[in-house]
Formats: sequence, structure tokens, C-alpha cells
Amino acid sequence: MKVAIIGTGYVGLPTGVGLAELGHQVICIDNDESKIAKLRHSQLTIYEHGLQELFDKHVSLGNLTFTTSMKEGLSGAQLIIIAVGTPPHPITNEADLSYLYEAAAQIAPCLNSSYTVVATKSTVPVGTGDEVESIINHINPHANCDVISLPEFLREGYAIYDFFHPDRIVVGSDSTQAKKLIASLYEPLLALHPHCQMLYVSRRSSETIKYAANSLLATKIHFINEMADFCEQSGADIYEVASGIGLDQRIGKSFLNPGPGFGGSCFPKDTMALDLMAQKYGVNLSLVHATLEGNKERITSMAQRIVQVAKQLNDGPAEAKARTAAAAGAGTVAAAVGAWDGTGAVVGILGLAFKNGTDDCRFSPAMQIVDHILKVAPNITLRVFDPKAMDNAKKILSGYSKQIVYVNSAQEVSHGADILVVLTEWGEFSNLDLNYCALHMRHKVILDYRNKLSMRLAHELGFSYSGVGLGTDDLHH
Ligand code: NAD
Repeated sequence: MKVAIIGTGYVGLPTGVGLAELGHQVICIDNDESKIAKLRHSQLTIYEHGLQELFDKHVSLGNLTFTTSMKEGLSGAQLIIIAVGTPPHPITNEADLSYLYEAAAQIAPCLNSSYTVVATKSTVPVGTGDEVESIINHINPHANCDVISLPEFLREGYAIYDFFHPDRIVVGSDSTQAKKLIASLYEPLLALHPHCQMLYVSRRSSETIKYAANSLLATKIHFINEMADFCEQSGADIYEVASGIGLDQRIGKSFLNPGPGFGGSCFPKDTMALDLMAQKYGVNLSLVHATLEGNKERITSMAQRIVQVAKQLNDGPAEAKARTAAAAGAGTVAAAVGAWDGTGAVVGILGLAFKNGTDDCRFSPAMQIVDHILKVAPNITLRVFDPKAMDNAKKILSGYSKQIVYVNSAQEVSHGADILVVLTEWGEFSNLDLNYCALHMRHKVILDYRNKLSMRLAHELGFSYSGVGLGTDDLHH
């Protein structure tokens, strides 16, 4: 099948590569000329685990091509997948649909009497499909097409794995012809994974499913984070508690890892969009709202705690006080730091991406924490490292070039640092040489917001170590 994908971002590109691997002829369209130029020169524009190999394969086979031209890209396509961004609107915080509607308006004149399915893969509010349909019909009344919803559930960092192992494929349409076309698109995948369910629902249900799924996942993360706070104060261990509840089939084991708060390009914006959408319908989604607000507070309090510990270490012979603050627990909001500009303090930051396996920093808790620290204590020095996200982070943090030192390895973060803070759950941080860090740090304090380091080893080396939701033993290592 000839498939055109509009938008070559974190969804469009892995989807294009995956569909090419299923045997389809895929053309990816983007209006960002620099992205298309790179892709045409066989250079990836995003980091996504496992993407490179399949990308190289299908580019060289000629079944994955790239263009900036809608006319060229849509010519002869039986299926057009829209995968453009729907970020929060800068003023209203609702999903900004301008890119999507622009794409719809550009698609319309390229359609003709040959039947085409236009599938919205972007995450969009309920009723957006109706609007896309009306834009197309208004511009080109002769277009022979069905507009359907085909939401995406991939996880960044696992996008390729998820493409080939989906839990379900949701198709929102009441058109038999469109459903048949999507069934034939995924036929090779379903042959490999017959357990994967194709779920045919109405377009509005499909649009809602995506928001409901992300909001429930975000709520689950927020729940386990709050339970981690509780464990810290009550002497329980969050990993034991997570095992105990996760073995209940009704709850499940996934998404029970505590951390500094959820982030990324989906959960914050989608929970926010659903909350606002519901308000418009006069419905109070109190749980979604509480999750959103609670998560924001959590990220701020995690950042405050770093500043508080840095200040106490910097105040002089108060290491003991700082150790007490560090050990106070992630859930306890740090006391007001007062007027302190951070002069002299050095904090080592491990991780900037919103999660491991990706270079995506959009709405990353790590980036928000860095931003907060530098707003509160503008003269602090941050030594930062991320295995994949340095370039993206540098662009976003360009206003802080004086305060941030970008280093080349996780170890180098420790040079002269007062505190080491783990913000992203990169696997390689588990292997950080703590002996080396102990020798190179000014004070030996670790705030491990991802529970990646060994508490036992840290204690043996004389560190003050504080994780998230941990008991006194090193049970998770
Ligand atoms: P992205 O910002 O990485 O990519 C969007 C791409 O669309 C960009 O390359 C942009 O240049 C291009 N674009 C915008 N308007 C265009 C136009 N008119 N013509 C051609 N190209 C255009 O976004 P993303 O992370 O891939 O997300 C895309 C959608 O998928 C969003 O709605 C998002 O909510 C949803 N989604 C994302 C994920 C994820 O993990 N990133 C997962 C599921 C769903």
C-alpha cells in the first residue's frame, strides 16, 4: 500500500519506518526543510532506540522516501496519516490544532476521485475529526475520502518495539471501506501477533480513548509517587509496596516506578487538554485535575529540595544539616530557601531527557527542575550530562549558558560538585563509578530521584544518599 505520513517527528518517523518494514511504500512529508534534507541524506533527526537500523534498511531499499511537497507526497497515496504536533496552546493550554488544520487544508486540494483514507494519528480533542472532514469537504467537495481517527500509543524510547508489539490498534470510524483498508495495512503485523486486537470504535470514542489512556497512566504515576512519599515517612519501601500491589492483576505491575514527577511531550499536555476539554463540556474530572496539579507541585518541590541542600552545604560547616535535609524525603516540601543566589554552589545533574531511550526534552521533569533551580538560585553552577539529549537541552536552556557546564560523561558531572542529582532513568547511570565521584566531589551528597544508584555502595563510600520512597535497605539493587 502507498502510505503518506505528514510530520516526521517522534511519531511520524518511527511509524513510517515500521510501515516500510511491514512491506508498504512509505513517503514521509514534513514542512521543515532542514529535517527533510537530513533524512534525504540518510541522517536521523531524532534519537529513538532501534530506529537507525530499520531506517537505513528501508532508505536503501527505496521504500522509505522523504519530501517537503504535499503534492508529490500525496500523489497516489491510498492512506494519508497525519502525525503533526498538537502542543499546548501558549495562551489557552488547550491542544493547539493549528498544525493539524493547516495539514488538512494542504491535503484537501491533493485529493481526487480515487478513494483515500485520511487518518489522524496526532492526539486531538473530541470532535477534531469532524472539523478535519469539514475543512477537506469545504476546500475540495469532490474529494473521495474518509477521515478516521487512528491514535498512537507508542512510548518514546520504545517506539520501534511498540510499533511491532502493540497491545491494541484503535480505529475510529464508521466507514466499512476505511476499516478494511486499515485492516489490510496491519495484516502483516497481525499475522505475527495474532493476540493484538484491532478495536473498531466511533471516531469520537477513539479520540477520547487516547486522552483517557494517557490520563490514567499519568494518574498511576502520580499515585505511586505519592505512595513513595508515604513510604519515606512511614518506613516502608516503595518497591516492596509496588510488587505487592502490582501482582494484583486488576492493578498490574507497570507504571509503578517512583520518580520526580511525570513529564514528556504527552502526559502533561494531554492531561491538561482533557481537563480543559471536560470543563467545556461542564464535566469535572477532579482526579485528572488533581493529578496535573499534584505533579506540578512535586516537580517544584523536588527542585526546591536540591536548592535547599545546596544552600546548607554552602553555608559552611553545616554538612550535617544538609545531610538531614537530603534525607528528609522527597515528599516533604523543602523549607523556604530565603534570599540566596547560589553563588559558589555546584550541583551535578545526571539526565535531561524526560525519560531514558530518547533525546526528547519537551516538558522533561529534569529540564523543569534545572529551570527552577536556576530561577531560584541564578548564580549556582550546574554540571550536566545526558547520554542523548545534550543538543536538545542546550537549545532549550540557551538563556542559562553562564550557569550550566555541559560535560562529556556522567563521571565528569561530579568534578567539584556538592551534590549529585539523578534526574533521568538512563540504565548507564546505574554503573556510575561512585568511587570516582567520591574522590572528585566537594561534598558527598546524592539525591537519586530515579533510584538508579546503589544506596549500599553510596553509604559504604561515605555519601549521604537519598532516593525516592526507599526503605533503609538497598532492596531494589
Ligand atoms: P513532533 O513535534 O516530534 O513532530 C511533528 C512534525 O510535524 C514536525 O517535524 C513538524 O515539522 C511537522 N509538521 C507540522 N506541521 C506540518 C505540516 N503542515 N506539514 C508537514 N509537516 C508538518 O511531534 P510528535 O512527538 O511526533 O507528536 C505528533 C503527534 O502525536 C502529537 O499530537 C502527539 O501528541 C502525538 N503522540 C505523540 C507521542 C510521542 O511519544 N511523541 C505518542 C503518541 C502520540
